Amino acid sequence: MPERSESESRKLLGRLRDTLAEDSAGQARLDRITHIIADQMGTDVCSIYLFRDTETLELCATEGLNQDAVHQTRMRVGEGLVGRIAKTKRVVNTEDAPSAKGFRFMPETGEEIFSSFLGLPIQRLGETLGVLVVQSKDARIYSDDEVYALEVVAMVLAEMTELGAFLGEGAALSARHTQQALFRGACGQEGAAEGQVYLHEPRVVVTNPIADDPHAELRRLQDAMGTLRGSVDDMLSAATLGTDKDQLKVFEAYRMFANSRGWVRRMEEDIALGLSAEAAVEKEQSATRARMERVPDAYLRERLHDLDDLSNRLLRLLTGQGADTGAEMPDKPILVARNIGPGELLEYGKKLRGIVLEEGSVGSHAAIVARAWAIPLVINAKRILTEALNGDHILVDGDQGVVHLRPEDAVSTAFRDKIAMQMQAQERYASIRKKPAQTLSGEVIALDMNAGLMADLPSLDSSGAEGVGLFRTELQFLTRNQVPKRSELAAIYGSVMDAAGGKRVTFRTLDIGSDKVLPYMKPQDEPNPALGWRAIRVGLDKKGVMRMQLQALIRGAAGRPLTVMFPFIAQFEEFREARQHLLDELEREDKLGHKLPETVEIGAMLETPSLAYAPRQFYELADFISIGGNDLKQFFFAADRENELVRRRYDTLNVSFLTFLEHIISRCTDTKTPLSFCGEDAGRPVEAMCFAAMGLRRLSMRPASIGPVKSLLRRIDLAEAKAVIDEARVSGDQSVRPTVVNWLTGRS
Ligand code: PEP
Ligand code: MG
Repeated sequence: MPERSESESRKLLGRLRDTLAEDSAGQARLDRITHIIADQMGTDVCSIYLFRDTETLELCATEGLNQDAVHQTRMRVGEGLVGRIAKTKRVVNTEDAPSAKGFRFMPETGEEIFSSFLGLPIQRLGETLGVLVVQSKDARIYSDDEVYALEVVAMVLAEMTELGAFLGEGAALSARHTQQALFRGACGQEGAAEGQVYLHEPRVVVTNPIADDPHAELRRLQDAMGTLRGSVDDMLSAATLGTDKDQLKVFEAYRMFANSRGWVRRMEEDIALGLSAEAAVEKEQSATRARMERVPDAYLRERLHDLDDLSNRLLRLLTGQGADTGAEMPDKPILVARNIGPGELLEYGKKLRGIVLEEGSVGSHAAIVARAWAIPLVINAKRILTEALNGDHILVDGDQGVVHLRPEDAVSTAFRDKIAMQMQAQERYASIRKKPAQTLSGEVIALDMNAGLMADLPSLDSSGAEGVGLFRTELQFLTRNQVPKRSELAAIYGSVMDAAGGKRVTFRTLDIGSDKVLPYMKPQDEPNPALGWRAIRVGLDKKGVMRMQLQALIRGAAGRPLTVMFPFIAQFEEFREARQHLLDELEREDKLGHKLPETVEIGAMLETPSLAYAPRQFYELADFISIGGNDLKQFFFAADRENELVRRRYDTLNVSFLTFLEHIISRCTDTKTPLSFCGEDAGRPVEAMCFAAMGLRRLSMRPASIGPVKSLLRRIDLAEAKAVIDEARVSGDQSVRPTVVNWLTGRS
């Protein structure tokens, strides 16, 4: 094959564009395209594989391979060379395909006689739509120019696929974005919602991937770059006037990219080969996104996000499709986004019915706001952005972390039944809101709620919670760009107590580190952050922040009773030291003339197994202990709470864990130390019932769980439940759950 020249490349793209203008069906167009590519590139074979569904690729057209294989040959992602390209999004260029790693022989294609193989992903904005392959009988490596030319062709094919050019009779391909799709993510906030997709950032559509006049396209690119640089300079000057240093850094990175010769040069080269300016931007953006997935370094990934954002701005300038020209907000909007900051979410307000994020995490700011508003949230819904279009029908199941896009009627019906049942249950719970969680055997279990934002406080009334058993104070720190001021915090704590109207609020001091990274704190390079410098360890090492927070709590209480607990205490000395800090601050505040709290309770969170075996004096000194089951369980089973692969392996009702809880309960009983449980498990009715049966008398949970937990407790004889649990504990079962659930089902 001769060296690729720019004019040849443009000729190839020109011929491809002609196929778009022809009035032919999708399959005929695909066939013609493979013929043109093989002809123009001088290869024996050209084949196009497209995704049939999210996991399967199908040979959709070929020049040179056996025609009977078309729409018959399929492979899964990762399978064979083609599947490997789809999975890794990387080029495979080999002179001896049958000997290449992962090669899979497909007898129906007759490809065994072709030695050299060049395949690359057909991708649009980082989303892989298929794979383009050329093959030849002679054994040779394709040149860089040939690879580059084929990348440009693949880019054009991606745009054509997106424009629906390959649909129609005989194509045996369903239109993209019309099939139903299921996404399994993770639960960010429970609840079910039905509505229509509302994309946080609407997709830009490129209708003219190929251009005739490279000079005109270069001028368009230069003009758009000029405007972009101007707007980045404006943003930068505005940020220089402000105090937000992080924002300034981001805009400085923007300016660096906007002036990057390498970036512009690559786009200019794409244009020289025949792409339009916007297609050139998109091609480079796809490459950036592919790189983003591979880069392990969080800082570099952030910078690639910056470049991606700049590319979006450039695309909008070139296509005239502004961010605000997206669809109108539908009736029941379900927000779909890659990620979203709390500020942006607050701007949308409570009109959102649900939220689905491609990234995000349970501890993310968005999750915090969504929880405060009780908006169902699914995080980590991979590929949702590439599949969802504005207005698509969507069902969000926050309980299971599942999203149904464009569901079939049967799925929608089942889902509506679920929503109706949840509503009925809510009505039932409302009727017992003011009643105590008193069991049939007479024990009263105190049910508190967990909170972290002012916005959570109204739930205190609506849920019927006795108080706030865990107020996660770090949320105030996480949603800011700098350490909040003492006066600001004191005002917030005061308002929280005001809103609680005399009900007890247990403030947990700052629990950062592990997955809760403050945006303004220098990240620690720790191999195991969950076992690292976090929570009380940071507090005791950085006393300034802890003391400031304790002062704010004392001032916020302004004479009212104050309850404080320290997180992640692993040994007695840590508690003694932290407690002493609070006592010192009380003395100091008194001297400064501030009103002291009427009473002060100082507790510890039991989140590491070591504390269960602490000296008796620890139990005597603590005014109360609260079991942080989320952390305790992860350390007990050595199973990362954030890692879905291992988290689900270990049941909270595992006999070992219950026996361990029994030990903690008995130690607290011995020393008469009030004990509560405030991990997520307290909000699961079966778990809550077992905890109560084991002897816990105070549980703290998210507000929406109080109704279901209370409803079950009120129907239970705890002595009977304990007997069932004990029977299961000695039977050799791994978990008491099957026996307990069986017993519960038998009674209802
Ligand atoms: C826990 O670990 O159970 C707990 C309540 O604290 P957090 O979830 O905030 O770590
Ligand atoms: Mg914890």
